[in-house]
Amino acid sequence: MNTGTDIEHLAVTAGMRMTEQRRVIARVLTLANDHPDVEEVHRRAVLEDAGISIATVYRTVRLFEEAGILTRHDFGDGRARYEPVSDDHHDHLIDIQTGQVIEFTNEAIEELQKEVARKLGYKLVDHRLELYGVPLDKK
Ligand SMILES: [Zn+2]
Repeated sequence: MNTGTDIEHLAVTAGMRMTEQRRVIARVLTLANDHPDVEEVHRRAVLEDAGISIATVYRTVRLFEEAGILTRHDFGDGRARYEPVSDDHHDHLIDIQTGQVIEFTNEAIEELQKEVARKLGYKLVDHRLELYGVPLDKK
């Protein structure tokens, strides 16, 4: 969940040179909580500055990712989707009919994963979990 991570502030802290177009893209990403892909970020950015090209969005998003500010997800539809890096861990459930991404946390799953790693002789340091589903009422 994006709990107000300020992408522009993080980018400046990371030493990125921030042009006005990059600031617009950073603002779009700061406000987004729906894991948008580059095309969606572009759609939103041009509402603020019609001169922003899709290439600029691609380049800027990649720079943010390389700076460790954005996380990239692949939710199985071949489109890279982005969200701000956050200390709040969560997993994702993807509605395969609509593409909607639902964030959740589950302590039992967290503990189970640590247990699995431990039994295999490892300390768990990270994981990704994606659930894919269809709504129960639309079978
Ligand atoms: Zn998320």
